[in-house]
This record gives sequence, C-alpha cells and structure tokens, in this order.
Amino acid sequence: MPVPVMNLKAQYASIKPEIDAAVAEVFANQSFILGPIVEGFEKEAAAYLGVKHAIGVNSGSDALLLCLWAAGIKPGDEVIVPAFTYFATAGAVARLGARPVFCDVEPDTFNIDLADAQRRITAKTRAIMPVDLYGQCADLEGVRELADKRKLVVIEDAAQAFGATRHGKKAGQVSQMTIYSFYPTKNLGGAGDGGMVATNDDTLADTIKLLHTHGERPRYYNKVVGMCGRLDALQAAVLRVKLRHLDAWNARRAEIAHLYDAKLAGHPKLKTPVTARGNTHIYHQYTLQVGDGANAKARDELIVKLNEKGIGNMIYYPVPLHRQECFAHLGQGEGSLKVAERLARSVISLPMYPEMTNAQAQEVAAAVLASV
Ligand SMILES: *Cc1c(COP(=O)(O)O)cnc(C)c1O
Repeated sequence: MPVPVMNLKAQYASIKPEIDAAVAEVFANQSFILGPIVEGFEKEAAAYLGVKHAIGVNSGSDALLLCLWAAGIKPGDEVIVPAFTYFATAGAVARLGARPVFCDVEPDTFNIDLADAQRRITAKTRAIMPVDLYGQCADLEGVRELADKRKLVVIEDAAQAFGATRHGKKAGQVSQMTIYSFYPTKNLGGAGDGGMVATNDDTLADTIKLLHTHGERPRYYNKVVGMCGRLDALQAAVLRVKLRHLDAWNARRAEIAHLYDAKLAGHPKLKTPVTARGNTHIYHQYTLQVGDGANAKARDELIVKLNEKGIGNMIYYPVPLHRQECFAHLGQGEGSLKVAERLARSVISLPMYPEMTNAQAQEVAAAVLASV
C-alpha cells in the first residue's frame, strides 16, 4: 500500500465546510487586502504564540527580508546563518547585500551549533539567525545570551515550527524577531504563499508594518522606501480556520513520530530524530539519518527501494548552503562545515501529516526496515 509523503487533500476534506465558509466570506466582502480578517488572524496568532505583535506578510522568505531590513542590516554586514536549512534563510541576507557567514549545526538536533557560531563572530557581525529545523526549537536562550553579549540581533526562522515550544515558551517569545511560513506544505499552511513576523518590540513591529506597505504612512505619503509584503485576506481567512486545529494536528504528528521511533530506534544503520531537553517537537518533518554519511550511498539506496514500494520520502536538504553555487564566492569550501555536509548525505524525511493512519505509519516503518 503506497503512502504519500504528505496529503493536503485529506486535510482539506477534514475541514472543508469551515474553509469554504471562510473563503466565501472574503468573496462576499470583496475586501482582499488588509482589513478585519487579516487583523483578526494577526490578533489570534499573537495570542496563540504569546507575543505582543504578529504581522502577516506575503511569505516566510519576505518575512526574513523584512526582519533583516528592520534591523538595519546593510551591505558589508555579516550575519551568522546555519548551513543546514532552507535557502531562504541565507537568501534574505544576500538580497540586502550583506554576507551570510555559515556555521555548522549539531548532529543530533540539526540546529545551530552555538560554539561554532561564536567562533565566526567578527567586528562586522550584526545578526544571528537560529533556525528551528523540522519543528523543534534551536537553543534559543543560548543564542540570545551570546547575541546580547556581542550586541547582535536575533532573527529566528521558525518557518517549520509554528507552535513548537522550548521550556514552555512558544517559538517567537525569545528572539527579538521570529518568522513563520504558511507555505501550503508547512504545518500551518495556507492556500498559497504567506508568512508572519512575531516580535515583542513595539519599534520593530512598527518598522516592519511600515516597510511591508511601501513605507506609506498615511496612504500615498511615503516616509521610506519599503516593499509590497502584505498577507492576503484570503490567506488569513484560511489560516484562521486552520489555527483552531493546529494543536490537535501538531499532537497527531508527534504520535506518528513516536510510532516511527518505536519501530526504528536502535537500528544499527538508522538514527532516529532526537528531541533536545525542554523542547516540544511538532515534527514538521520526521527525519532519519541513514548510514554514517561518509557518502550518500546508504541513504540513496534506501530511497530507491522506498520509491519502488510507493513510500513517499524527501531530502531536506541535499546541498548545505555554503556549497550552493550562488554562494561559492564566499569561499566556505567542502570540508569546512562537516556536520552540515554529512547530514546532506545522510538525511531522509518520511511521510508525515496529521491525517495519516497508524496503519500507514506502520507500513512506512516496515518498508524502511525491509529496505535499509
Ligand atoms: C519554508 C521555509 C522558508 C521560506 O518560507 P516561504 O513561505 O516558502 O517563503 C524559510 N525558512 C525555512 C527554514 C523554511 O522551511
């Protein structure tokens, strides 16, 4: 029995009347840009996250750009970014003419290696960007402590971790600014592109709001040059509905992860994901390490066999950012970030979505055990 890597149709089917009503309301109002539905979602998201300000924006990528921009990052500045993340984290830095300085990650949690980050701080470093990869928080207090000591801004990329907690605090409460993505496949996914910035800082919130509407204040009077970075009302309407289900969905993801763990933990060729102490993992992804990562052979052979059996799988991410062609000029060569490089050769993410049945999860685990 094939199992897809994700199944958005199943999620829509489970909440279709609510989504359809919310979308119909936007059409009835014909109010598509900003307005009460966007504001309503922002208030509900801020309450959920336990932050003072939650600002809807048009994507996670532009949320990153807006945060760096609001922090005053400019050409010549350096920003510390973990090498093992989605491209957008570093792309936003480069877009502003600043230099992403890649650091390594921890082999267990896949998140930023603080000691390595610290070694890479120079007189030009202005910011540091922890990423809550696959749905669990990085060492956010550790990052904040280092950043406060070295006068750096912390911009947290929680694109994969809406609702994840660390020591009881939701991702978004610790860093100066935190971004989320509502890309359709994210654990809180819209019907197209969308994103959010959370902050407790009134000045930063005000700057981001100004920048995401072309620097207009009031309308047609431009104080600064900004961008068009708003969240659509249609997206807000869909996301408002989904936010009400998110805790149940995140909990179901964790159940599936525990089913996988029960079958796969302890296998000599597999390493199951590790949750750091104090974290509640929301398992945006369930990611195994296959083999020792000296090369990608063991992982790639597993993929071939899973594909034959119709078991969905993905590699997040096959190329660490310091090895991307567009960053070759930065000179962080092969061998410079060993853990990130090894993970790129060994990780595989298994099917993970809340609507998956226990039987499907067992099927996936059995297929992995029969193939590895
Ligand atoms: C998805 C993602 C982004 C980008 O979000 P978009 O909404 O697709 O622009 C940024 N960082 C990470 C870690 C992501 O997973």
